[in-house]
Amino acid sequence: DPACAAPLPVLGRDVTVPLVTGGEVTYAALDYAASAPALQRVWDDVAAYAPYYGSVHRGAGYLSQLSTDLFENSRGTVAEFLGCRSDDQVVFTRSTTDSLNLLAAALPADCQVFVFETEHHASLLPWREARVTCLNAPRTPEEAVQTLERALADRDPHGPALVCVTGASNVTGELWPVRELAAAAHAHGARIVLDAAQLAPHHPVSVQEWDVDWVAFSGHKLYAPFGSGVLAGRADWLTAAEPYLAGGGASRKVARRADGGVDVEWHETAARHEAGSPNVIGAYSIASACKALTEAGFDRLVARERHLIDTVRAGLAQVPEVKVLSLFGDDAPRVGVLSFVVEGWNSSHFAAALSAEYGIGVRDGLFCAHPLVRTLLGSDPQAQGACGAPEAASGEKSLNAIRVSFGAGTPDEHVERFVAAVA
Ligand code: PMP
Repeated sequence: DPACAAPLPVLGRDVTVPLVTGGEVTYAALDYAASAPALQRVWDDVAAYAPYYGSVHRGAGYLSQLSTDLFENSRGTVAEFLGCRSDDQVVFTRSTTDSLNLLAAALPADCQVFVFETEHHASLLPWREARVTCLNAPRTPEEAVQTLERALADRDPHGPALVCVTGASNVTGELWPVRELAAAAHAHGARIVLDAAQLAPHHPVSVQEWDVDWVAFSGHKLYAPFGSGVLAGRADWLTAAEPYLAGGGASRKVARRADGGVDVEWHETAARHEAGSPNVIGAYSIASACKALTEAGFDRLVARERHLIDTVRAGLAQVPEVKVLSLFGDDAPRVGVLSFVVEGWNSSHFAAALSAEYGIGVRDGLFCAHPLVRTLLGSDPQAQGACGAPEAASGEKSLNAIRVSFGAGTPDEHVERFVAAVA
C-alpha cells in the first residue's frame, strides 16, 4: 500500500539467534512496548556528533558551545514534536517514570490527584504523598470521561487537582480519549498530565490541540537509546517547586551566609530540575528520533502500523484458544500492542516457546500494570488489584498474559512469523 511507510531501518534488524530445533533465524523483536530498537538514523546522528562532544553550559571552548547548542536546541525540537505552547518548558529527565516523579515532587500543597486503576505503575504510583483518588476501570472511552467528571465534581473545588492519564495503554494498545479527559479536567479546575510513553512513538501528540498541561515520554520507547526522557508543559508549578535534585546547574547563585548556612537562588528555567551534568547524548538522540518520525510522516507510520495490527488480529482470530484482552472492545482504536492469553497454556511457557522455537521476542507478565491486567483477566479488582489492595493470596493461580508489540521498524515478516507460530 503506497500510503504505508516502509519499515524504518533500526539497529539489530540483521541479528540472528539460535533455535532449539536447530539452525538460526533473524530475531523478530516484538517487544516494542518495553523498549523499541533505536532507529539507525538516531544512531548515525549520535555517531556523527560523538567526536565533537564537550562539556555543556559552562565551557568556553568551541566544542562546549556546540554541545550546549545541541542540548538546548533539542528542547525546541521536542517542543515542536509535541505541539507545545510557546511558553511551555521542556525538561530532560531519565524516563517517563522520572518525569512523573518530578511532577509529583512539584505538586502544590494539598493537591488532589486522580488516576484510573488501569494506569501503568509509572503513572499510578508517584503520587504517594498526595491525596490520590483511584478510579475504576472504565469499559468505554465515554465511561472514562463520565467517571472522571463525577469524581472531580465531588472534590473540594477550591484546592489544586491533577489528573494523570495514559494516552495509549502499554497492555492493550487502546487509545484513551485524551482531549475529552483534558476538557473534563479543566471544566472542574483540575490540571492534566498525559503519560505518552506508549502513545508518542506511534501517534502524533498535540499538547495545544488536546489542551493537556504536561506530557511525559521516554526516549527508549521512541526509537532512541535508554537513559533519557521528557517532561514538557506548564512552567508555573515547575518554577514554584523546589528543584527535583539540588546541585550545580540548577542553581543560579550560591553564597555562604554569615551564620554558616548557604543561600541559593535556583534557576526558573528547565535547568531548575536538571541539576548535575545533563545527558546531552540522550537529549540529542530524542530530538533526532522526533525529527526522524516527523520526516517519515505519522500518517504513513500509522497506516503501516494499522496494517500490522490487522495482520495480527486476523491471525489470532483464527486460533480459538486465543483470547485478546481489551477494555474498550475488540474494534477499539489501538497502537501496535496486543496482549492475550492462550487457553491451556501457561503464558510464560508460551512466550518462552516463541523465543526458543521461532526466534520471536515477546513479553509475558503483568506489564507494570497489575490492576489493569487482573481486571482484563476477569479477576476481582476489589479483591486483588487496584491501588494498594493486597496482592493475590499465596496459593492462588498465577495470572499473567502474553504481549506482542511492534512499530516503525517492524517488517511484515515478523508479524507473519508470529501469527504462524501462535497457530
Ligand atoms: N507509561 C507507560 C504507558 C509505559 O508503557 C511505560 C513503559 N513501559 C512507562 C510509563 C514507563 O516508562 P519508563 O520505564 O521508560 O520510565
